[in-house]
Amino acid sequence: MLVEEMTWEEYRDGVGHKILILPVGSIEQHGPHLPLNTDVVIPKGLAMMVAEAVGAMVLPPILYGYKSHPASGGGPSFPGTTSLDGSTLTHLALDILRDTCRHGGKKLMVMNGHYENVAFVAEAIDLLLREVKDSVRVLLVNWWELVSDEMLDELFAEAGFPGWEMEHAALTETSLVQYFAPELVREDRIVDDQSERIPKYSIFPPPDDIVPSSGTLYKATYASREKGEKLARHVTDFIVDIAREEFGRQ
Ligand SMILES: [Zn+2]
Repeated sequence: MLVEEMTWEEYRDGVGHKILILPVGSIEQHGPHLPLNTDVVIPKGLAMMVAEAVGAMVLPPILYGYKSHPASGGGPSFPGTTSLDGSTLTHLALDILRDTCRHGGKKLMVMNGHYENVAFVAEAIDLLLREVKDSVRVLLVNWWELVSDEMLDELFAEAGFPGWEMEHAALTETSLVQYFAPELVREDRIVDDQSERIPKYSIFPPPDDIVPSSGTLYKATYASREKGEKLARHVTDFIVDIAREEFGRQ
């Protein structure tokens, strides 16, 4: 399933007819309890679950992402948040997708784990389609957009849903890392936090009072491995349906 662990012959035999999933993440602070690669762990974990269900291949993830925004990721002031310029991310993704198509890849899925990446990855896909033939189809999936209202009501029954931007290093991301990589979660460091004020516009450079000092933007203590598993299965089922609808039965 993992392309980086295949031989070239194994890759060659699958690339032309299987779905190829490219996880894209970020190296970004995720509170005192989650690792910098949280936005990689989640899409890679989902990609593996989808790959198992539909026989897809998972490309080596893009580990870095576009710049962290204070209102959705805490911003650039935290040590460790290491970001790419938008054009760098676009061209990195484009180079990878172009070569994958050159090898015969036709069914591509970009599994994004970082809110701020969306426009730059979409740009890469648009530029790719100018180059490659009509037979290539690319899906861009942001996992949080697939979560149903019913699932949100269930997950946030106690905490209350704050909107996806604030859900950084909080209930959903913590639960998903507890499920995919429990050894990476510092359980004794999980806190609830919130900004002192949440402006409806962007300020550059960001002032201190719009970013909680912990880096957790909402309630992380309501997270659990069980919620993570439920959410991961929910999103995976949705993506499997999408893959079968858009790429045909695998
Ligand atoms: Zn994140």
